[in-house]
Amino acid sequence: MNILEKIFGTHSERELKLIYPIVDKIESLKPEMEALSDDQLRDKTREFKERLSNGETLDDILPEAFATVREAAKRSLNMEHYRVQLIGGIVLHQGRIAEMRTGEGKTLVSTAPAYLNALAGKGVHIVTVNDYLAKRDAEWMGRVHEFLGLTVGVVLNSMNSDERKKAYGCDITYVTNNELGFDYLRDNMAIYKEQMVLRDLDFAIIDEVDSVLIDEARTPLIISGQSGKSTKLYEVCDVLARQLEKGKESAEFSKMAAIMGEEIEEEGDFIVNEKDKIVNLTADGVKKVEEFFHIENLADPENLEIQHNVILALRANYLMFRDKDYVVKDDEVLIVDEFTGRIMPGRRYSDGLHQAIEAKEHVNVKRESKTLATITFQNFFNKFNKKSGMTGTALTEEKEFRNTYGMDAIAIPTNKPVIRIDHEDAVYKTKKEKFKAVVDEIEATHAKGQPVLVGTITIETSEMLSQMLKKKGIPHKVLNAKYHELEAEIVADAGIHGAVTIATNMAGRGTDIKLDDESKAAGGLKIIGTERHESRRIDNQLRGRSGRQGDPGESRFYISLEDDLMRLFGSERLVGMFNALGVPEGEQIEHKMLSNAIEKAQMKIENNNYGIREQLLKYDEVNNEQREVIYAERRRVLDGDNMRDLVLKMITDIVENSVDMSISDEQSAENWDFGELNNLLLPVIPLGPVSLTDEIKGMKKSELTHMLKEKAIKLYEAKEAEFPDSEQIREIERVILLKVIDNKWMSHIDDMDQLRQGIGLQAYGQRDPLVEYKMSGYEMFEGMTAAICEETVRILFHIRVEQKVEREPAAKVTGTNKDDSAVQAPKRRDVRKVYPNDPCPCGSGKKYKQCCGRKPV
Ligand code: ADP
Ligand code: MG
Repeated sequence: MNILEKIFGTHSERELKLIYPIVDKIESLKPEMEALSDDQLRDKTREFKERLSNGETLDDILPEAFATVREAAKRSLNMEHYRVQLIGGIVLHQGRIAEMRTGEGKTLVSTAPAYLNALAGKGVHIVTVNDYLAKRDAEWMGRVHEFLGLTVGVVLNSMNSDERKKAYGCDITYVTNNELGFDYLRDNMAIYKEQMVLRDLDFAIIDEVDSVLIDEARTPLIISGQSGKSTKLYEVCDVLARQLEKGKESAEFSKMAAIMGEEIEEEGDFIVNEKDKIVNLTADGVKKVEEFFHIENLADPENLEIQHNVILALRANYLMFRDKDYVVKDDEVLIVDEFTGRIMPGRRYSDGLHQAIEAKEHVNVKRESKTLATITFQNFFNKFNKKSGMTGTALTEEKEFRNTYGMDAIAIPTNKPVIRIDHEDAVYKTKKEKFKAVVDEIEATHAKGQPVLVGTITIETSEMLSQMLKKKGIPHKVLNAKYHELEAEIVADAGIHGAVTIATNMAGRGTDIKLDDESKAAGGLKIIGTERHESRRIDNQLRGRSGRQGDPGESRFYISLEDDLMRLFGSERLVGMFNALGVPEGEQIEHKMLSNAIEKAQMKIENNNYGIREQLLKYDEVNNEQREVIYAERRRVLDGDNMRDLVLKMITDIVENSVDMSISDEQSAENWDFGELNNLLLPVIPLGPVSLTDEIKGMKKSELTHMLKEKAIKLYEAKEAEFPDSEQIREIERVILLKVIDNKWMSHIDDMDQLRQGIGLQAYGQRDPLVEYKMSGYEMFEGMTAAICEETVRILFHIRVEQKVEREPAAKVTGTNKDDSAVQAPKRRDVRKVYPNDPCPCGSGKKYKQCCGRKPV
C-alpha cells in the first residue's frame, strides 16, 4: 500500500463506497419479496421487461431485480445471496472484475447480473473454463433462472450446431471460452446463414477470468486444415541439430544484448538461452548448417525455411522437455498445460515447433497445418458490448485487465474473515533436501489427521512425490487431471480428515473443498506448495484453496536454490548470502530477504509475460482490422444483401485498372499497347479483343475506359439475362463471392503467419519489425482484395447456365470455361435496369448518364 492509498483508501475501497447504497436498497426490499407468492415473484420478470420497454434502464431496476433473484435463489436452491455476493453481482453488472476468494460463492454471484441483463433480451453468456463447470453451473443455477421464467442453455463440446444454436438462443447460456471462441470462428466460415449458431455478442460474465483472459490469452484460437507441405525437412533438421555442439551458456547473453548488438564471445555451434527461451546459432554453427545443406549463405531470404527449421529443431531438442512441456503417448506428442499440468489433446504448438518435437521423438511427423481462421482471446472478448469477470486472484494482473480489456478489478471483502495462516517460505539449498522436508511434513500432518493438499508445477514432480509417499506407506491421491469430472470429485474429497492429495497447480479449479469436523479440529486444510510458480497469481490460487468461508487452514511454500525460478532469476547475491549464513545440510531457513527476492523475480517474469502478450496483441491488431473488414463483408453476403452493385463496381474497377496498367495518359491512341490491355482484361472479362478500330482512333484514354466499362456492364447484363429469374443470379453472385472471399482470405492469413515468422527472424535489422509487419500486411491485404475482385468477376462471366432445369430453384453452375460467343439471347430481363439519372454502378459517384451511361459522342 502506498501513502496515497493509506490516506484515501485503495481503488477498491473507494469504488465499494459507491456501491454500498445500492446494496442497502436491495437488502431493504427483502421483506417485500418474502411476502410474494411464487407466482407473484415469477411475474416480476414480465413486469421488469415491460418497464424496460417503457424507457427504464437496467440500472433503474437493478435493486428490485437483484432482490427478486435473491428471493428466488432462496426458494429454489436454499441459498440466499450474502451481502458481499450482492456487491460482487453489482461489480459484474458494471462490466468490471470482481475479485472474490475461492469458496465465496461466485457461481451464485453471477445469477443476479445474469438475470438483470437477460431482461434486455439480447442474451447473456456465462463463460467457464471447462465443460464440466459449464454443465454443473447451468444445471445448478438454471434452477433460479427457470424459477423466474428465463431460459437457460449450455453448450458442450459434444454438441452439434442445432443444439448449439438452441443453447445460444436462450436467455442465459453457459459455455466454455474455447467453445465460444471456436463457434465465433466457425460462424464466420459458414456458407449459409442458417449454419451460424451465435447471437450478437452482447454481455459475457467470465468465471476464472484470469485463467481465460491472461493465461489462455497467450495462444490464439486457431482453426486449421492440412497443407500439402512435406515434413521431410523436420527430420533432416533434427539429425543436424543432434550433430551440432552446444556452446557454453552465458548469463550475459540475452535477447536485449542481441538486439543492442553487443559483442558476445561465442563458443560451440549454438547457444541456448533458457531464460528467454531462445536459441541462436554461432558463426561456427551457421557455417556447419551451410555445409550440411550445401548452401552459400544461410541468411539469404531463399534459405529462410531452412533457417527457421534448424532453429526449431534446436529448440525442440534443447528447450522443450519431455514429461514437462509435453508427453509422448500412442505415437503422438501431446502438450502439457504449464498452468494446470493437464494434457491438452488436440492442441499443437504453432509455427512448426510441434513437428520439430515429433521429429525429435521419432513419432510420425504430422503434415503442417494451414491456418483457416484465427483470433486471440483478447480481440474476441473485446467484441462483446459489455464483459465482466470473477476470480479469486485478479489484482496482481490489474494493469493488464485495464489496458487490454478496459476492466478494473475490485477486491470484494470476504463473507467471513479469513483465518488461514500463510507461513513464510521454507528455503533449502538443494532440491533433494527440500523434497525430503516436504515428505516429512506430509507425514507429520497426516499423522495428526489434518488433510493436506500438495501443489506441484509439473506432472513429473507429482509422480516423484507420489513414489516417495508410497515408500513411506502414506495413502494419497494423485491428480494428474485427465477428466475434469473425476478431478472435481477427487478435489472435493481433499478436505476429508487424513486425506493427502497431490495435484498439479490449478487442477480442479472451480471445485469446492469442504472440511469435515475432524479436519477443522485438526487445523483445517494444509496447503504445501512444492515450488513457487512463475506467477504470484498461481501461487495465490493454490493458497486460496484453504481457508474458505472462515475455515481454519495453513499454507507454506517449499523452495530450493536449485528450483528453476531461483536458478534463472535469483541473483548470485542471494546464493552468496545463503552460503554466508552457513546453513547446515538439510536445514531450512526462513528469511524475509529471500521471500522478497523471490517475489521480485516473479514480478519480473509476470511483466515479461505481459510484454509477450502485449506484443502478440499488437501483431494481432493488424489481423483484427482486416478480419473485421472481411467478416463484415461476408456477413452482408450471408444476410442475403443484393450484391449486384458490388459486382458491377468490381467489373468497372477491373476495366479501369487494366487500362491504367497498359496505357499511359500522354499516349495517343495509335501508340496504345492493345496486346497488353487484352492480356490483362480478356481473361477476366471476355469482351472481344480491343484493337485500333475507327471508333477508337480519335479517343482519349478516359473515353476508352468509359466505352469499355459500358461494354463490360452490357456483357454482364447479357449474362444475367441467361438466368430464368434474377433471384438466381443474385444467389449465385453471393455464393461465388463467399467462396472466393474464403479462399483468398484463408491463404492470406496463412501468408500473414509466414510474414510474421519471417519478420521475427529478421529482428536484427534497423527497422521496427512491427512497423514492417503492418506495412507489408497492408500491402498484402490490398493485393488480396484485388484478387478477390478479379476471381469473382472472372468466375461470374464464365458461368454456364443449364437451361433444361425446370423445377430446381437455382441454376447450376457447371463450369467456367465455356466459350462466351455462344451465350444465348436473353429470355427474360428482370434485372434492375440502370436509369440515366441513377448513380453510376461503377462507383464513380457521378450519374450513370454522365459516366458509363454516356452516349458516345
Ligand atoms: P467459488 O466459485 O467462489 O469458489 P462456489 O460458487 O463454488 O465458490 O461456491 C462454494 C460453495 O459455497 C458452494 O458449495 C455453494 O453451495 C456455497 N454457497 C455459495 N453461496 C452461498 C450462500 N449464499 N448460502 C449458502 N451457501 C452458499
Ligand atoms: Mg467458482
